[in-house]
Amino acid sequence: MAKKYDFLYKLLLIGDSGVGKTCLIIRFAEDNFNSTYISTIGIDFKVKTIDVDGRKVKLQVWDTAGQERFKTITTAYYRGAMGIILVYDITDEKSFENIQNWMKSIKENASAGVSRMLLGNKCDIEAKRKVPKETGEKLAKDHGIRFFETSAKSSINVDESFLALASDILQKSSKKTVRPSLLFHVVCHYVITECSKCFSNVVL
Ligand code: GDP
Ligand code: MG
Repeated sequence: MAKKYDFLYKLLLIGDSGVGKTCLIIRFAEDNFNSTYISTIGIDFKVKTIDVDGRKVKLQVWDTAGQERFKTITTAYYRGAMGIILVYDITDEKSFENIQNWMKSIKENASAGVSRMLLGNKCDIEAKRKVPKETGEKLAKDHGIRFFETSAKSSINVDESFLALASDILQKSSKKTVRPSLLFHVVCHYVITECSKCFSNVVL
């Protein structure tokens, strides 16, 4: 049976409890928003296959299942992650300040080449905003990562941000695979040139 996707990426979401991680995953995977029962329990993971630059990319998106409340996110959670989505709530300053701690946790636990992205969620409640958009943008810029303001509730920038992260990962991985093929090209070119030199000597 033909494979239904070209790449499989494990992504995970981290950030303080209550910022909307579970809701973002559900909005992305099921285009749905449920504000009540999932809040406390969380989910394991959800999958969705999307088109990224003409490739079928299956995203396996993991949720923390609430461990973040006890700061007990283990190395096991980070294992194999190719992309990490850091989430804060634009109406909660503390959740933004804590992004620095989550960054530290990534550095200590995730693999060095992991792609990161910062999301300021709940942008639908502008009236309660505590973190200016520029402040989020600046933090992301300082870390050299992408930034979006999102709303899981109103479905703003959810698909766009996941697609952008998947595209970053795809580009990173294709750069890696370019190198050996480039080397192969150079070697072939050298062999062909040398052979043709020998051949023309023999003929002459
Ligand atoms: P988690 O602890 O980070 O997984 O957060 P949840 O996904 O459980 O969401 C926490 C609370 O925030 C819930 O009551 C959600 O209904 C609410 N919430 C999540 N995303 C949004 C959003 O984009 N806008 C608004 N207004 N509320 C949200
Ligand atoms: Mg949750």
